[in-house]
Amino acid sequence: MNQTLGILPNLACLKPQVSLQALTTFRVGGLSDWLALPRRQSEFEAVLAWAIAADLQITPLGAGSNLLISDRGIPGLVICTRRWRSTEFDDSGRVTVAAGEPLPTLAWKAAKRGCRGLEWAVGIPGTVGGAVVMNAGAHGGCTADVLVSATVLDSNLDLVQLTPADLNFQYRTSALQGGRRVVLEATFQLEPGHDPEVVVADTLAGLNQRRATQPYDRPNCGSVFRNPYPHTAGTLIEQAGLKGYRIGNAQVAERHANFIVNLGGATATDIHRLIHHVQGEVEARWAVKLQPEVKFMGEFPNL
Ligand SMILES: Cc1cc2nc3c(=O)[nH]c(=O)nc-3n(C[C@H](O)[C@H](O)[C@H](O)COP(=O)(O)OP(=O)(O)OC[C@H]3O[C@@H](n4cnc5c(N)ncnc54)[C@H](O)[C@@H]3O)c2cc1C
Repeated sequence: MNQTLGILPNLACLKPQVSLQALTTFRVGGLSDWLALPRRQSEFEAVLAWAIAADLQITPLGAGSNLLISDRGIPGLVICTRRWRSTEFDDSGRVTVAAGEPLPTLAWKAAKRGCRGLEWAVGIPGTVGGAVVMNAGAHGGCTADVLVSATVLDSNLDLVQLTPADLNFQYRTSALQGGRRVVLEATFQLEPGHDPEVVVADTLAGLNQRRATQPYDRPNCGSVFRNPYPHTAGTLIEQAGLKGYRIGNAQVAERHANFIVNLGGATATDIHRLIHHVQGEVEARWAVKLQPEVKFMGEFPNL
């Protein structure tokens, strides 16, 4: 028995001192004190009960595709959903999905069944849980358009069903951001009865367009900054002459200026400094302060 941590749950899914690098699409970040990768609901409950009793910081993690994790890592428990998968369609186009299901997998399954509503999602490399929390979207569609409800495990270990009204969805954000509640499941209403070949072709067209314009060949986190209406962040950054600008092994992508890529061996500190540099240059040139879309996790120096 550990004096400060209470009785550790005897779970194979819980490990101390794990590097988070491989769990983010940027491929950077330090260690988590504890990492859990539960495969079933009882494991989520046991791990969370232990972490709450031990008063640990709790950080939910999906596919890590919208995160910059500090080189110093994350204290407490990181609870990652990516091994918690299942998808159940009914004939009315309603689909209930476990939080760790990859969003592109769900989008392809829907397309192959002739269900419309998720064609936009195929190029977003997150999980279903992350999509709910971020209100992920593309090509004019977003999670809020199709979500019926989300089931979350709250800090009293109660399973609570939330509707879109509870979730306060806005552009790339929801009421779940930054909290301790873990999304376990989401239900979407799609539009059934379409020709699967046509839906698959439309889905593929969206994916091909993204592949042609975004740097898929290097680790990145998608769009780094939110678009400052009526401008796009990418245009402001490009016109500030920052395409290709580099700090350490982090670089503003040549292919799309609102992406930062890890050229190999970049640190979170390199990326953080580059984000700060881009903000400063764009503000000096355009008097617009770009707001990050990427979430920072852990400690970063004040720049
Ligand atoms: C190449 C590329 C392209 C992208 N294109 C787009 C795009 O077109 N549109 C778009 O919207 N995004 C895009 N993104 C960003 C990213 O994929 C989305 O924000 C996605 O929804 C994040 O999901 P995730 O599972 O990776 O979440 P993570 O990055 O792991 O986490 C994001 C936030 O959600 C929280 N979270 C994750 N899962 C849960 C859960 N189960 N319960 C509670 N909290 C949770 C985390 O704590 C964190 O605060 C792109 C990223 C990449 C790398």
